[in-house]
Amino acid sequence: MYKKPGYPKLIIDLQKLRTNIDKVQNACRAQGVEIAGVIKGCTGLGPCAMQYERAGCAYIASSRLEQLEPLKEMGIQAPLMMVRVPMLSEVEDVVRICEYSLNSEVEVLKALNAHARIQDKEHNVILMADCGDLREGFWDKEEMVEVAVMVEQDLHNLHLAGVGVNVGCYGSIMATPEKLQELVTVAEAIENRIGRELEIISGGATSSLMRVIDENLPSRINMLRVGEGILLGYDLPHLYNYEIPGMYQDAFKLRAEVIEVKTKPSHPVGEIGFDAFGHRIQYEDRGMRRRALLGIGKCDYGDPDELICCEPGAQVLGASSDHTILDIEDCERDIRVGDIIEFDIKYATLVYITNSNNTEMVFI
Ligand SMILES: *Cc1c(COP(=O)(O)O)cnc(C)c1O
Repeated sequence: MYKKPGYPKLIIDLQKLRTNIDKVQNACRAQGVEIAGVIKGCTGLGPCAMQYERAGCAYIASSRLEQLEPLKEMGIQAPLMMVRVPMLSEVEDVVRICEYSLNSEVEVLKALNAHARIQDKEHNVILMADCGDLREGFWDKEEMVEVAVMVEQDLHNLHLAGVGVNVGCYGSIMATPEKLQELVTVAEAIENRIGRELEIISGGATSSLMRVIDENLPSRINMLRVGEGILLGYDLPHLYNYEIPGMYQDAFKLRAEVIEVKTKPSHPVGEIGFDAFGHRIQYEDRGMRRRALLGIGKCDYGDPDELICCEPGAQVLGASSDHTILDIEDCERDIRVGDIIEFDIKYATLVYITNSNNTEMVFI
């Protein structure tokens, strides 16, 4: 039988991941904020999820039920949270698998309630407000308050745990103090109507960590759902110049094997048409250059421009489905067939590579 080769390999340093969880969690707790550890970025890998549990995260979250389902059996006791508003067709499983879900549709809430009754459970819901990022959530805040009152009064197998917002996803909206205060305003309108405090006011994701670092998060925000900012910690320092000291950006490293090394022209030879993906590409002519071909491609990681090559002097030229082409003319190392090239990765690459059944995951 065909056996997976040793490469591509994703090297996952669980100690570094744990350090990242601790650093972010400590920074948040100093501001009275608990975190939901969002594990969808690494496709919910069990050993990674375990680190969030051991670190004592208040919640473990994903956008995909199939990533959350195995966690209880692995011994994870933290409440599980579904962060993508549920499909109507999956509410039964949402109630079965998760203690919490984020919601924005009355019809889905009623279905959750019905299934919670059948399963003899109380399911916790967080209602999402759309404050301008234009992905999920109630745009009409009066409607949101009415729905909250309905959950509180009529849907007896649901518990209205709180409200949340998402920013910096589709609409690239920044988590400013004013923007997050909009959520607090809706929360307080709901509290006035239901006559009690909401337990959770969830003020966004990694991009809201900027407010934790600046210590200007509105005081009533008490929960953030953090994915990228823990797994990789790349976006905040590189996009916004915000840093939590002591974070590792290389808890995940990608390794691929060299399958060809040759000196070739840098400009394709012949009549130029389209590449394997139907795109017209501009090729720079730098004369004859030494190139290495790797046994990994777009099928595995998506976009080659997202890869950060750790080999000094090497440059990613491009890729097809199963090949990646490097310029190695300026490398100090004499790269040979069979050698291994290492990459640091960003969020999209991590998502693709952990979904690729062609890549071996190695935990250290
Ligand atoms: C993915 C997701 C998160 C985590 O986002 P990061 O930017 O990776 O921190 C939080 N909330 C929701 C609703 C999400 O879908």
